Order: sequence, then structure tokens, then C-alpha cells
Amino acid sequence: MYVEQPFDEIKVSPQKRRVAYFYDQDVGNYFYGTGHCMKPHRIRMTHSLIMNYELYKKMEIYRAEPATNLELTQFHSDEYIDFIDRVTPDNLHLFPREAQIFNVGEDCPVFDGLGEFCKISCGGSMEGAARLNNGSADIVINYAGGLHHAKKSEASGFCYTNDIVLAIIELLRKHPRVLYIDTDVHHGDGVEEAFYTSDRVMTCSFHKFGEFFPGTGNVGDIGIGKGKYHSVNVPLRDGIDDASYKSIFEPIIQRIVDWYQPSAIVLQCGGDSLSGDRLGPFNLSMRGHANCVNFVRSLGLPMIVLGGGGYTIRNVARTWAFETGICNGVILPKELPYNGYYEYYAPVYELDVRSSNMNNANSKEYLDKLLTQVVANLDHTKHAPSVQMHDVPMDKEDLGDIDEDMPDAIDTKGGSQMQRDKIVENEAEFFNDEEKDKGEKNIFEQEMAATNTTVVDEERTTIAKLGGEKTEKEETPKAIALYEDEKAEIEALNKQD
Ligand SMILES: [Zn+2]
Repeated sequence: MYVEQPFDEIKVSPQKRRVAYFYDQDVGNYFYGTGHCMKPHRIRMTHSLIMNYELYKKMEIYRAEPATNLELTQFHSDEYIDFIDRVTPDNLHLFPREAQIFNVGEDCPVFDGLGEFCKISCGGSMEGAARLNNGSADIVINYAGGLHHAKKSEASGFCYTNDIVLAIIELLRKHPRVLYIDTDVHHGDGVEEAFYTSDRVMTCSFHKFGEFFPGTGNVGDIGIGKGKYHSVNVPLRDGIDDASYKSIFEPIIQRIVDWYQPSAIVLQCGGDSLSGDRLGPFNLSMRGHANCVNFVRSLGLPMIVLGGGGYTIRNVARTWAFETGICNGVILPKELPYNGYYEYYAPVYELDVRSSNMNNANSKEYLDKLLTQVVANLDHTKHAPSVQMHDVPMDKEDLGDIDEDMPDAIDTKGGSQMQRDKIVENEAEFFNDEEKDKGEKNIFEQEMAATNTTVVDEERTTIAKLGGEKTEKEETPKAIALYEDEKAEIEALNKQD
């Protein structure tokens, strides 16, 4: 059944997709601590490459409103979010009990601005999901998201809040079935656990398994209750290369899409599955990694593209920039444009991450057994389970999937009535918000002046109107500042050339 396909050059479908990219210029300033391998700076490096490759001409760029505590408690517990919001390196000694039960410390240190960092990460993914829901984008990107290990009341594996679970909860307000795909080298345990009893979310994780963090995600872990056969795990060995990965990834995802018929896909693009990662033992080239993005894009479904792990940061930045190109239907040229972090890419200054000559411990026999097992499990899923849909879920039961006799399940999709009430869009309200519209238009006018974007006026107006939804605070000044900074940065760089 497993057929190893050759790994050819990536061909992107010319089909136009509207891309919304979320970036907050503060995100690169957060610092996990000296010697910690998680570096939010890589998101800023990625952004600099994206801007200097002029991808802003192809997509809309947004700075999301940071998530509120209330929004975070749609998945996380109140006590946990309260702790994340309040704890600082200076007052940590006042919370010895909490630090232990919420698992902050070595892997997940308390650093300055931790709460803000979490809110930026989750805000982008949640607002991205809202944008897919209201139809104003086909693909949304948030590289500050993808933090798949965070649990309801526990930090884990450098992750504190689970933006992915929050984004999926948002998508479930509109979409009957959501597919989550995880290409990080680590098992996507936090997301799997959150939806383990649900048939409205299918999770599919490709990861290194065997004496490797977090230790879960064997092929036999398939979900329970209504969620049985709705968790797919593809445990891989060291050194998997582009051809093997493609040859197992594509048939599994195609099978899931054919059988499960999701109406939206969330793709976690953890960069630690790249060759030469500081933590990950896989051997994917930049193109091998990006092939997943290209394949999922080719399915033509609304899609959220997220970051995740990735610890050789120059390679993460290269790959995520390349993948942003693919989302926009472009293969970026190999020669790196001059950018704010040019020296990081010495000595080759190319947009490429190559595979090494390491051994691929995934034999064809092993991959064949794995594929056979996964497909056999999928054959148990009933074809596209139907879900009674409501425009806005009013009770957690209305999310349609909760096996009520399981305490875990009840915890999975919390969220207060008050919060849901707040989210209900009042059309009259958001279309009449003149001030906000003006502000949003200003951003687009500035951008148009700076970049010659070819978005037609009508589309711009629509997007500008939708841009104000769901937020109560004034976000325009921040957003304008972002564009001015970027413009200044790019102009300075152009002068140097
Ligand atoms: Zn990882």
C-alpha cells in the first residue's frame, strides 16, 4: 500500500486564495531566558523576510487584538489564566503551589511579559479563525501560534496557552467538521487531548515517537467515545526524508479529507521537523516541509497556517517565509533579499534548508505497516458524520460532540455564556462603526501608497468593514504604527542597496 513517490519540485496551484497574515511587532521581544531554545525572535526574522520578499503586496497584514483573559478561558481554567496573567519573575516566589501544579519552571519558565505573549499568540489565531468564519479570507497565517502542547490547566513543552484549541473552538461555531494537521516533530498532544472525545474535530499528528517528548501519540491512540477513530497518530523514526514524508503524509491527508469531509483545516507548521533542528531528529528540507503546506492548500479548503516548534531559528525563518510564499501562490526566489537579520543567514544567504546525509530509520516496510494501520482505523469512521448546526453555539452541549459521562470532555470546551454573548456579531453595530472603518481604511490607504497593492476598492472596503468586528478597544493607532515602522525599515534597507 505504501508507495514511495519521488520528491519533485513543488508546483503551486495558480488558483488565487485571499491570504490574511497576522503579526504583532512586539512578539519578537519576549525572551524565555538565556540558553532556552525557544526564541520568539524567529517570528520577527520570518516577518522581516516576508516583508523584504514583498509578500505584503499579495496579502492583507493584520495585527490582532490580544486575546482577553475571558477569551482564553474558553479552553483554559480560570485559575490557570489568572496565574499566567499575574505571575512575573519578581513575584513567582509568592506562588510556589501554583508554579508546581501549573508546571512552570524549567521548560516553561516565567519570563517578563508572559501573559502578554500568550495573548498575542492566541489573539492572532482566534481572530484568524473569525476571519475564516466570516469569509473575508481563505487562508490565515499566524506564526506566533501553533503552541500545541499547552493543556487546560498546565503549561507544557514551551507552551502556556493553546491558541490552536481556541481557534478550533472558534471555527466550530461555523464549521461542522474541522481537521487539525500537526507537522511539528513533537506529538500535538494538547490539541489531541482537547478533542479526544469529539467527532467534530479530527486531529492528525506526524511526529517522532520513541523516547521523545512528550511520549504520547502511538498509532493505536485513536480517540475515545464519540471521538473514537477521530485522532490519527503517525509515529515516525529518526531521519525521515522528503520523499518518505510526502509519501506517507499525502495519502493519509487525502484519505481523511475524502472520508471525513472537513470544511476547514488548521495546519500546524512546527519548524523542528526540519533537518538540522536543535531538538528534532528528522531530515526534511525546506521544500519537503513546505510540501505539506502546498498539498493542504491544494485541497482548496479554508485554512489556518500556524507556527509551532523550531529551534534552528535561521532555518525556521527561511521555511516559514517560503511557506508564506506558497500560501500566496508564489515560489520565492533562492537569493535572500537584504533584510534586518541578514547576518543570521551566513555563509550562504540563500532561501534554502537542505537535507543531510543522515540515515532514514523509517524503512519502507515500517511505513507500509503504519499506513495500512492508519487507513484501517480510518475505515472505521463513518462517512462525514452529520452535525446539527447552529449559527452560534449557546451551550457547550451544542458543540455537538461531548460525551457527557466523561469529566474530561465537559472540561474540554468550556467558556461562559457571557463570553458567547459578547461574541455574537451585531451586524448593525459593526457596519455602522464609522470611526473604526475610517481607521481601518487609513491603514489600507497607507499600505496602498507604500506598496501598490492591486486589491480593488470594493474588496478593500469590505475588508475594512469586517476588520472592526469583535473588538471593542481602538486598535487603529497600533496598526498604523506597525505599517510606519515597516515602511521606514524597508526604505532604510532600500537606501543601503
Ligand atoms: Zn516541537
